[in-house]
Amino acid sequence: MIDSDALPLAGDVALVTGASRGIGRAIALELAAQGADVGVNYTSSADAAQEVGEQIEAQGRRACVVQADISVGDAVSAMSKAVTDELGAPTILVNNAGITRDMLAMRMKSADWDAVVGTNLTGSFLTTQSVLRGMLRARRGRIITIGSVIGTVGNAGQANYAAAKAGLAGMTRSLAHELGSRGITVNLVSPGFIQTDITADLSEDVISNVMQRIPLERLGDPADVAPLVAFLAGPGGAYITGQVIHVDGGMVMG
Ligand code: NAP
Repeated sequence: MIDSDALPLAGDVALVTGASRGIGRAIALELAAQGADVGVNYTSSADAAQEVGEQIEAQGRRACVVQADISVGDAVSAMSKAVTDELGAPTILVNNAGITRDMLAMRMKSADWDAVVGTNLTGSFLTTQSVLRGMLRARRGRIITIGSVIGTVGNAGQANYAAAKAGLAGMTRSLAHELGSRGITVNLVSPGFIQTDITADLSEDVISNVMQRIPLERLGDPADVAPLVAFLAGPGGAYITGQVIHVDGGMVMG
């Protein structure tokens, strides 16, 4: 029998955006396995989010499943209040929710630019702002945002997504400067090609092209990303801030 008070994240409250599916789901379950109570955010997949909450509770942790579109300021404030009221103020924030709307720049609609920047970049900023007061008061916090290798190297058809993810790197570094003296670390975890719903529709051609650029010779899995996020959230991450860390099988080096 594991003494749950001895787990690395015992006593922590985590808020994970986009935790109903894919990488966010794996992160929420990993943080719970390491002892945290978890706020499980989603926007439309209510049943899937509920199932994640049940799995967290089955591990003996508390879960707060909360619907919010993170690109909408009022919804984000209500989400953070609901989690704080039910579990306590978050000490760990994982800005994971993200979308793609791919199109060559010539034909990209401004609505698709706005949606991608609004969710990936503005949504992460709004969510961070919404938990900051609690972290500043506690003089402790871990903010981990999910970027992408595309934010580092770019990709044809993804100007909106690459801009948003590159913006998150700048946001991460600025916040790390602002918040370091208050005991809050801020980092960006940037995955490569991870098998989730976001990548499910890519053609065989695109996938075989990507495979040629992965030294570890396999696509990634959400379970390849979650342990790094948990590490940064735990005691091992205490002296790491302002970093962009790629989890990509070696696609992008240096
Ligand atoms: P996914 O399987 O499509 O899951 C996306 C999650 O985000 C879902 O839980 C979804 O909620 C939520 N979401 C989307 N828009 C939202 C909004 N406006 N408000 C709140 N929640 C929202 O995607 P994924 O592959 O796990 O991606 C997770 C993160 O990793 C994203 O930031 C993505 O850019 C990044 N990433 C992924 C890859 C990859 O290869 N998969 C690579 C690099 C980076 P619902 O279920 O309710 O729709």
